[in-house]
Amino acid sequence: MKIAIVGTGYVGLVTGISLAKLGHKVICIDQDKDKIAKINNAKSPFYEPGIDEQLKKMLDKGLLHATEKLEEAVLTSDITFIAVGTPTVNNKIDLSSIKKASMQIGKALLKVEKYHTVVVKSTVLPGVTEGVIKPTIEKYSRKLLGEFGLCMNPEFLREGNALEDALNPDRIVIGQIDERSGKEFAKIYAKVPVSIIFTNLSTAELTKYATNALFATLISFSNEIARIAENLDEVDVLDVWKGVHLDRRLSPHIGSTQIKPGVLNYILSGCGFGGSCFPKDTQALATFADQLGIQASIIKSVIKINETQFQRIILLLKKALGENLKKKKIAVLGLTFKPNTDDIRGSAAFPIIEALLSEKARVISHDPMAYEKLVPKQLTNLQIVLASTVEEAVTDADATIVVTAWEEYIKLSPHFFKKLMKRPIVIDGRRIYNKHSFLSSGIIYKGIGL
Ligand code: NAD
Repeated sequence: MKIAIVGTGYVGLVTGISLAKLGHKVICIDQDKDKIAKINNAKSPFYEPGIDEQLKKMLDKGLLHATEKLEEAVLTSDITFIAVGTPTVNNKIDLSSIKKASMQIGKALLKVEKYHTVVVKSTVLPGVTEGVIKPTIEKYSRKLLGEFGLCMNPEFLREGNALEDALNPDRIVIGQIDERSGKEFAKIYAKVPVSIIFTNLSTAELTKYATNALFATLISFSNEIARIAENLDEVDVLDVWKGVHLDRRLSPHIGSTQIKPGVLNYILSGCGFGGSCFPKDTQALATFADQLGIQASIIKSVIKINETQFQRIILLLKKALGENLKKKKIAVLGLTFKPNTDDIRGSAAFPIIEALLSEKARVISHDPMAYEKLVPKQLTNLQIVLASTVEEAVTDADATIVVTAWEEYIKLSPHFFKKLMKRPIVIDGRRIYNKHSFLSSGIIYKGIGL
């Protein structure tokens, strides 16, 4: 089938590559000329393991290309995805990109004779596809629903595993406005052995928010337990989670093997959740609940715990280094919100860095992606020094804070810190180090939940 994708960010490009791999002909559309040029030169505008290679294969096979020309792409396609951003602004979902894309698609559909299905992949609140996208397309296409189809297909990919997730989806949720829309859209997954769940539009929309809110809840719950553990003698929250994880309701036995489901990665304590989805989606959901007259006290607490988690890091730092951080050199390892991505949106590193700067500390940070891929504009606003190597960052530092669990940091030994730092204080925000070997080597080691 011929597919147009409006918005070539993480979701748009990864979806495009995975659909091209299924043999569909995909046109990725973006308003950003630089992105278009990069994609057509087989360079992904963002980092994801293996993405450039897969992109090149699809370009070489003629199954994917990128363009700015939305109308042309829609006119030559059977299905158009909307994968533009839906940020949260002033605690509310901002639908301006969605409205613009719907209008542009509507205008293009004015010239389309045959049945065309529009699929919303962007995360939108219940009611948006039916109440905002449908009337906008109808207005500008001068067509009524039925002359075109409309589905809501939430995306569940995880950055850092995005290609793998998109190529091997665990489920496909198709919210359909009517049966024909769902049927036409489902054809693109005809070759994929996966459970397809057909729902109405609002159910699909809420499924996405419920999924993100659930994982965010597990993280904030784990951080609340960590706060309790930190106030008890000789309790390490890591031992607590080991005991919890082995519960057969979380880690069932299959034959003689006890499996370790992915959900356990969210029942762990750390610096909190970040990224382009959990923070904005939990906030948008909480505000939406307010509008419905629902208190949403769990979701609001989840957000509050997360927004204050950076203070725990500062607290641990002060316990080790003393209250006065003025002129202290603090190395911050990791700026991306998690490893294997170059996405710094919502990263815990930034509230930590801001708190350090407000106390007049000197911050030197490092990230394996900092020079190659991170958006310099987002970093230059902060008065931080970016080290080009981890050695440079920690040399002569009064303390090191680990924010992101990059493999490069996991490999560091206590000796490495002792040899280079002015004072061997390590604050492990992700609990990536063996506390016994760090403590016995003379490191002043503090970690979340310890
Ligand atoms: P992004 O900001 O990385 O990309 C959006 C792209 O859309 C940008 O390149 C922008 O230039 C382009 N765009 C905006 N309006 C356009 C228009 N009218 N015409 C052409 N291009 C346009 O966003 P993203 O991270 O890919 O997220 C997209 C949506 O998917 C959001 O709703 C997000 O919540 C959701 N989502 C994201 C993830 C994720 O991990 N990033 C996972 C699941 C769902």
